Amino acid sequence: MRYISHEDFGRLLHDLERDYQVYVPCRKNIHRYYRPYAGLTDDVVIGEVRAFEPLKAFFFRARQKVAEGFSPDVVHGEDRPVCIVGAKACDLKAFAILDHVFRGHDYADPYYARAREANLIISADCTYAIDTCFCLALNVDPYPREAFDINLSPLDDGFLVETGSQKGTAIVAGRAALFADAGEQRTRDRNETRRHVIHAVQKNIEQNRIPHQDALEGAVARNYEAEIWADEAQTCVECGACNTICPTCHCFLLYDQKGKAHIERFRIWDACLLKDFARVAGGANPRPKLWMRLRNRFEKKFDFFPKVAGMYACTGCGRCISACPAKIDIRRILKRLVNHA
Ligand code: SF4
Ligand code: SF4
Repeated sequence: MRYISHEDFGRLLHDLERDYQVYVPCRKNIHRYYRPYAGLTDDVVIGEVRAFEPLKAFFFRARQKVAEGFSPDVVHGEDRPVCIVGAKACDLKAFAILDHVFRGHDYADPYYARAREANLIISADCTYAIDTCFCLALNVDPYPREAFDINLSPLDDGFLVETGSQKGTAIVAGRAALFADAGEQRTRDRNETRRHVIHAVQKNIEQNRIPHQDALEGAVARNYEAEIWADEAQTCVECGACNTICPTCHCFLLYDQKGKAHIERFRIWDACLLKDFARVAGGANPRPKLWMRLRNRFEKKFDFFPKVAGMYACTGCGRCISACPAKIDIRRILKRLVNHA
């Protein structure tokens, strides 16, 4: 295990800027957002909890030009790859779902695949939990175990450093002077922080009586015709925030618009809560009622995905709870699904 001081970590990021556009999480009021790195200023928070926006935004862009003038050639920009610092375990777990969708079949999405290959992830342990965190219920620990290049465990005087890929190992090996042996005490301190955060998430789960994912098997199918959906959808304003903020939601829409020289095709995020999501030419809609679309969201995450990919398409990040203006709480719905006979 290696250790890096705050000062040397700043040097590392400065060095990585030659090859990457570096993004760091910053605190603004009660939330954290990614912004381009401009030194380790006081608002940079590596540790704490997940950022407000999901990591998918760096890999599956909210709006991406995918074709020009009906040419089959893939349109790639000249941008340098991205280095994301401070990514959390719940977002890294979402890669399993996005990988299944975008590169798990005959055709790999060229934009997503390229970003996954070229981008660098320097993740970080959570150092506390907020009341919407329930990752452990979905078998996600509040510290990264996989899908990172380098992981940081924040300590008072720097970070404990683990590498998780050849790319990460090469970066650490190539800048050996910045790193030192972590020593036993720092590893004990890290383990103590991890225990503390696990305890906080467990407390959230117990207090809110959130079911563990093992209890969710078959719960959506059993409640397919239940009143739960119409009841929960009563306050929904159909904004789609729960979809766009979710690190695992991945549906998209293609549209064409006139560019300067050609017709251009764009891919944008779509949201299954929106009425037009499944509407087809001629106007027919398989899910005309809002409660059907709410049910579809849960069906996809907790019934379809376990069947086709062997995993739940939820990481317990709690973003949809914070984002929903109607206070529709995924934890309450999961509880109702499990408890309803
Ligand atoms: S459904 Fe909600 S809690 Fe689950 S991953 Fe998506 S935003 Fe996070
Ligand atoms: S965020 Fe809430 S109000 Fe908006 S579409 Fe989702 S469930 Fe409905």
